[in-house]
Amino acid sequence: MTQITDNQRPLVEVEDLSVRFTQGEKTVDAVQSVSFTIEPGKTTALVGESGSGKSVTALSIMRLLAYPKASHPSGRVRFNGIDILSATESTLRQLRGGKVSYIFQEPMTSLNPLHRIEKQIGESITLHKPLNATQVRERIIELLSLVGIRDPESRLKSYPHELSGGQRQRVMIAMALANEPELLIADEPTTALDVTVQ
Ligand code: ADP
Ligand code: MG
Repeated sequence: MTQITDNQRPLVEVEDLSVRFTQGEKTVDAVQSVSFTIEPGKTTALVGESGSGKSVTALSIMRLLAYPKASHPSGRVRFNGIDILSATESTLRQLRGGKVSYIFQEPMTSLNPLHRIEKQIGESITLHKPLNATQVRERIIELLSLVGIRDPESRLKSYPHELSGGQRQRVMIAMALANEPELLIADEPTTALDVTVQ
């Protein structure tokens, strides 16, 4: 098999990106003129001290900041060639949770405390893929074992509060992987966990 590499472009292109927060008279220039690319199938790490703009940059990739309080005085973000900063809301909705997934630091903020594990993961599967109930259930069990949850079948009926912090974070990762995203953004996914669980 031959691999064609010369027309392969980066999955993500961030070019001269700046982020500004404005509140009344006050402005904070949180990110100034950042450029980097993410290649398909590769891991890219964004490293910097606390407050240097890592999270804000990661959120800008899917235009997830609180606009218009947040704005981009300069820059461009392309995902698969799509210009994200000028894309329509419906294009962005399709990408978020479909081709792009996020894992955040605090699992409880992203899990619904009122829904069982089966329902939470099931919803992120059926949102983007037309599968029947049996297929969805099989996929949930597969994902839960993939992230190292033991005896996944017995966990389907659990609520988030019935799981340990480490198990909740694994459920979050399972949800993020559910659609086989092309881009998985993990923003300090283990810092809220005990060192031994990390
Ligand atoms: P990091 O993830 O590298 O620790 P952040 O991206 O969270 O840093 O924050 C970068 C800067 O942007 C910080 O100075 C922070 O105070 C500021 N910032 C982040 N979110 C907001 C916001 N919603 N409103 C105002 N300033 C913000
Ligand atoms: Mg951060």
